[in-house]
Amino acid sequence: MAQEDIFKKVVAHCKEYGYVFQSSEIYDGLGAVYDYGQNGVELKNNIKKYWWDSMVKLHENVVGLDSAIFMHPTIWKASGHVDAFSDPLIDNKDSKKRYRADVLIEEQLAKIEEKINKEVAKAKKRFGDSFNEQQFRETNPRVLANKEKWDALHSRFAKALNDSDLNELKQIIVDQAIVCPVSGSRNWTEVRQFNLMFATEMGATAEGASKIYLRPETAQGIFVNYLNVQKTGRMKIPFGIAQIGKAFRNEIVARQFIFRMREFEQMEMQFFVRPGTELDWFEKWKDTRMKWHKALGFGDENYRFHEHEKLAHYANAAVDVEYKFPFGFKEVEGIHSRTDFDLSQHEEYSGKKIRYFDPELNESYVPFVVETSIGVDRMFLQIISAAYCEEQLEKDKRVVLKLPVALAPIKLAVLPLVKKDGLPEKAREIINELKFDFNCQYDEKDSIGKRYRRQDAIGTPFCVTVDHQSAEDNTVTIRYRDTMEQERVSIEDLGKIIGEQVNFKKLFEEL
Ligand code: ATP
Repeated sequence: MAQEDIFKKVVAHCKEYGYVFQSSEIYDGLGAVYDYGQNGVELKNNIKKYWWDSMVKLHENVVGLDSAIFMHPTIWKASGHVDAFSDPLIDNKDSKKRYRADVLIEEQLAKIEEKINKEVAKAKKRFGDSFNEQQFRETNPRVLANKEKWDALHSRFAKALNDSDLNELKQIIVDQAIVCPVSGSRNWTEVRQFNLMFATEMGATAEGASKIYLRPETAQGIFVNYLNVQKTGRMKIPFGIAQIGKAFRNEIVARQFIFRMREFEQMEMQFFVRPGTELDWFEKWKDTRMKWHKALGFGDENYRFHEHEKLAHYANAAVDVEYKFPFGFKEVEGIHSRTDFDLSQHEEYSGKKIRYFDPELNESYVPFVVETSIGVDRMFLQIISAAYCEEQLEKDKRVVLKLPVALAPIKLAVLPLVKKDGLPEKAREIINELKFDFNCQYDEKDSIGKRYRRQDAIGTPFCVTVDHQSAEDNTVTIRYRDTMEQERVSIEDLGKIIGEQVNFKKLFEEL
């Protein structure tokens, strides 16, 4: 099945099974804003727990914070967002559709890369086991010609971004003959900068009101609390502050479902270090974060690092963790070495000293910062896309979400084989015992086969079926989602069997 079709199915599946709904749907929706349904909210909470515990519980020197969304407007001046938090936009005059100029060019680069990969895949098929991929990539004329095209376009693009040269971005789009996917035309406007921050007013009277922003990242809430946390927690450098919270960006193009939203949630950690050590910490956090992703078991080959074409104004190193979504490799997380930019700016704009006295060096300095920043919603989409499976069985087909068990919204479904003979009561008894530890669901409607399919579709890892034998010997069958194998176990043992599997500890031990 084509990757785009899979993605469409994933989106439809999210709606059908209570994972994600379009916001304000009965009013025809609101662009790029989404709500999480009964299963979505559970998965989202589990993702947040996986991140939070891996940061705060497993690192003695990382502590949490929950700062407000509204902040003093000068913060956004100091951070550079008022002047520079913008994306280059371009409109197609025929379709009236708006695009990000940089994304159009990135997609062009991806197309060239795709051509190379297709060439390699073809050759691999032809030569079988004797295929030497590296040699092929280095010598095949068609691959080399495309590689040359890619390199030339990439370096031109990187230069345009670094020079903030909007005319050059437009010229690249013209020279590459990039067409609007909707109208098919090359009738483009000039490229303009567009600030992504939402603004609103605070204050009861029109005269007294002041313009404030909805935060476009959670990081600044951490920076302005650096001193509070360092002092009250008696934190010694190096240490980190972690935060999960909403962020808002007036994205120019918001397609691809929850990949790019106008209201979303971030999980950010700012790690404060001694100046000069930041690049070592940057490498360390790159490694730690990649392990966190790979521990979910979706296949190491589906992750890669992507170096930034352009470093943000505050960074001296930056890398993205990319995952192979059905629509290609895309960023899930950013890891940035932010230097002392933010804290120094806040020193300057607030007039307050934001320093650390390092007893080992016997001197004070503005700490340097390494940041890890990941979107909850994008991680959600990554997990759902990776977990979605259509399997052909002997007689029929099943759709199953192979979610990591610790993240699954419902851990077990308890199903009485029939609605009589005391089986529902027995099933309720089991739930009453296990509900303190796990999210359980009771289901007695339809045939047992149908019920299994429903649970597969929402990714429930265990189905426990209560039958007539259960009343006699206190045993049930437990069915495993991925293998569909069933075994008979004692009701007493259920808690232990399930507990061992769904425990976050299993994931954490891989980190
Ligand atoms: P992009 O290049 O995709 O616009 P970015 O580089 O601006 O993203 P960062 O500012 O580094 O993103 O934000 C950190 C993380 O926050 C991203 O890796 C992503 O997971 C998430 N994120 C950023 N913008 C959005 C959005 N509009 N919707 C959902 N998640 C987002």
